[in-house]
Amino acid sequence: MDLDFWWLLIIPVAFAFGWIAARYDLKTLLSESSNLPRSYFRGLNFLLNEQPDQAIDAFIEVVKLDPETIELHFALGNLFRRRGETDRAIRVHQNLLGRADLPVSERDHALFELGQDFLKAGLLDRAEETFGRLESGDYALGAQRALLTIYEIEKDWSKSIETAQRLETMGAEPLDKEIAQFHCELAQEALQQKKPADAAEQLELALKANPQNVRATILAGDVKAAGGDHAGAIAEWQRVEEQNSSYLPLVAEKLMKAYAALGRAAEGADLLTSYVDRYPSNDLLDVAYQHVADLRGGDAAHTLARTQMQKSPNLAGMTRLLEAQIAAADEPRRGELELMRTLIKQRTKNLPRYTCQNCGFRARLFYWQCPGCSGWETYAPRRVEPIAASN
Ligand SMILES: [Zn+2]
Repeated sequence: MDLDFWWLLIIPVAFAFGWIAARYDLKTLLSESSNLPRSYFRGLNFLLNEQPDQAIDAFIEVVKLDPETIELHFALGNLFRRRGETDRAIRVHQNLLGRADLPVSERDHALFELGQDFLKAGLLDRAEETFGRLESGDYALGAQRALLTIYEIEKDWSKSIETAQRLETMGAEPLDKEIAQFHCELAQEALQQKKPADAAEQLELALKANPQNVRATILAGDVKAAGGDHAGAIAEWQRVEEQNSSYLPLVAEKLMKAYAALGRAAEGADLLTSYVDRYPSNDLLDVAYQHVADLRGGDAAHTLARTQMQKSPNLAGMTRLLEAQIAAADEPRRGELELMRTLIKQRTKNLPRYTCQNCGFRARLFYWQCPGCSGWETYAPRRVEPIAASN
């Protein structure tokens, strides 16, 4: 048997390369460091010894001696902010701003950093005021983005809309999706305050910004249902199918309630059954199953669950199928089936349902804005297959 010893050469070769690289870096550093004042090294020493206050004092001295080291302040400020020491980051950047001879571009940079310090510290008013001072220049776009974040945190949707529109005119990426969602937020507030006309106006603006916005369609149905117009609400919610059928589970229960209010529950059950047939989904099945069982009995519900399982086998569908079989079974088979259902339910009950496609945040409730990354419409409106979610 031949043994390949050539790879043993890699170790000394890699070592030699590392030694040469280190020597080169050291030489460069030494030639550069001869130009730096002693305070720089004192500051660095304090920093390495985790004495950031003394380090700041030393670095401030460096900046006084040599204006070229403004970058050092920025590096230090960022370092503190990243470590969560926002009060120190604020001090560093305020100190820079206090300098009378600071060039305009550096002043803007310092303001931008200071705004971020305030934002990270949760001092939203002061962050807003700081970013508001950056109306033009290299940091204007970044400042407007930060302002948008602030208004979203404050749930100031009118200002969010204004800022997003301004960002678009400044050359940022299209923000139609976000703007439509901000209008939906305003519509929801109006609905809660029992101002249906205001809500309808906002929803129109939402769909104008983004015709694909399903939430506006769902809310338009909510506005009509709240006003007692159940037929109108049904018409709105049915439009979800052509807009984006994957959102149908979000309106399934609403549709059934509206049909029931009109005394046409059977029609609602037919509609949901046809949805389950065309768009297999556990969430749709959950709603349809219950109503079909109540209205048409166990056999009809069993057929529904079986058809769904054949199309898209998964544990949630299996639970429904077992429930249908339990209803029709005699002892002792019934006991066995109940045991199986209990085991599957235990396996699936506490697992999250929805997963953010942007950051992976999982939640049992559906969110239009992800609580993890604050992205809009980042949740797929279908539940994650429970087995996949636990892996
Ligand atoms: Zn997310």
